[in-house]
Amino acid sequence: MLWHPFTQHTTWEEESFPVIDGAEGSWLVDVDGRRYLDGGSSMWCCSLGHGNPWVRRAIKRQVDKLEHATFLGLTNPPAIELAERLLALVPPGLSRVFYSDNGSTAVEIALKMALQYWGQNGRPSRAKFVALTQAYHGDTTGAMSVGGVDLFLERYRPLLFPVFQAPATYSYRCAKASTLEECGKHCLAELDEILSIHVDEVCGVILEPLVQGAGGMIVQPPGFAKAVENLCRKHDVFLVVDEVMTGFGRTGRMFACEHEDVRPDLMVISKGVTGGFLPLAATLATERIFKGFLGEFKDRKALYHGHTYTGNPLGCAAALGVLESFKKDRVLEPLPAKIEVLRKGLMPLVDHPNVGEIRQRGLLAGIEIVKDRATKESFPVEERTGHRIILEARKRGAILRPLADVLVVMPPLTSTRDEIRRLTGIVAKSVHAVLG
Ligand code: PLP
Repeated sequence: MLWHPFTQHTTWEEESFPVIDGAEGSWLVDVDGRRYLDGGSSMWCCSLGHGNPWVRRAIKRQVDKLEHATFLGLTNPPAIELAERLLALVPPGLSRVFYSDNGSTAVEIALKMALQYWGQNGRPSRAKFVALTQAYHGDTTGAMSVGGVDLFLERYRPLLFPVFQAPATYSYRCAKASTLEECGKHCLAELDEILSIHVDEVCGVILEPLVQGAGGMIVQPPGFAKAVENLCRKHDVFLVVDEVMTGFGRTGRMFACEHEDVRPDLMVISKGVTGGFLPLAATLATERIFKGFLGEFKDRKALYHGHTYTGNPLGCAAALGVLESFKKDRVLEPLPAKIEVLRKGLMPLVDHPNVGEIRQRGLLAGIEIVKDRATKESFPVEERTGHRIILEARKRGAILRPLADVLVVMPPLTSTRDEIRRLTGIVAKSVHAVLG
C-alpha cells in the first residue's frame, strides 16, 4: 500500500518496523507502547523534541482563526510576524523572506533567484553554480543538480543540469592532505581556481556551512565557511548557504553562519524552523538581490515562483512557537554542556577497530564505520553494516538512521544530558553487538 522514501521495499518488508503512534520530549512511542529515544531528531527536524507546548499552543490558536489563505496577492499576520522575527536572527544583510514548504524547494528558489538576478542585471552568461562534492541539498531536480552524493543521483543524471564541483573537506578520505586544516586549504584553492577560470559563467556557490549532512556528516575546518564567503566576494558571485540541517541550534548557535560571521547573499532554512510540527521553509535574500527583481510590470522581472502553501499561516504560527520556545526556554544556553556529553559518550568508540572516524559539530555526530581501519576500506554495501547496527540500537530503545555506514547521532536539542548519555551508550553497545 505505502511506498516509503529512500527505501528498498523488498528488504524492508522482511523486517519488522515500529509503527509510531505517540511521542513525548526525546522519546517516540510505538503502537505497542515501546519507547525509543529519537536519536536522529526524526530526520534532523524535531530539534525541540516532541510535543513542545509553545508550538502546540501557537498552532491551536491559529487553527481557530485561519488555516490558509493564498500568499499570491494576499498576506497574513503570522507570515509577517515570522519574517520580522527571522530577520532579527539571521546574519546581517538578509532582508527578504520568501516562504515555501520544504528544504529542497527552498534551495530551488535560491538557485532561481541567483540565476535570474544575474540574467536581468547585466550578466546573463552567469548561469551555473559551484557546489561541493558530497553536498546534499534535497531531492528535487535543481537541488539534486547541486548535490554530490552519487548514490542519490546516478539514476537521475539525464535530468540534471551541469554544475562546477569543488572538493568537500572530507579529510578522512582526502588523497592530497592528511589533516582537516590542510584538506580545507586544498579545497579552497580549488574553489578559487574554479571561480577564477569560470567567473563569467558562475552565478553562485552553494554550501552547507560547517557540516555537510547527508554526504556523511563531513565537517569543515574552522574558518572554512568564511573563507568560501571571502572567495565569493573576491569574484562577486553569490554565496548561498543551506542551513536546512545546521539551522536552529544544531551546531550550538542559532545558525551555523554565526560561528564565523558568515554573511550570505541567500540563505535556506527549513526542518528546525517548525521543529517537525508542519512543513515550512524559507529562502532569505539580501536587498541587493531583491532590488534586482524590481522594475516595470512589462519588464517581466518578477520571480516566477510560488507554491500553493507559500506563507501558510499554520506553518508560520508553528515557527513563531519555535522561536518563542528558543527564547523562553533558553534552548541554546545548555547546549555546550550537552555537546560535551555527546562527545564524551562517543569516546569509548574512538579505538574500536571498525570505527574509522568520529566527526562531531555541535549536537550532531557522524561515526564512519569501516571494515579495515588501517586501509579505510569500507564494508561491502550488501552487508548493510550501518543498517544492522541501527537495528541493534532499536532493540535497545533508540531510533537512528545511518547514511550508508556512517551512523548519525543527532538528538533533540532539548534532550537531557542523561538521555544523551543513554543514547551514546546504546550506539556503542550496538556497534559492539554487530562488530564485536
Ligand atoms: N538541504 C539540506 C542540507 C538537507 O539536509 C536537506 C534534507 O535533509 C535538504 C536540503 C532537503 O530538505 P527537504 O527534505 O525538506 O526537502
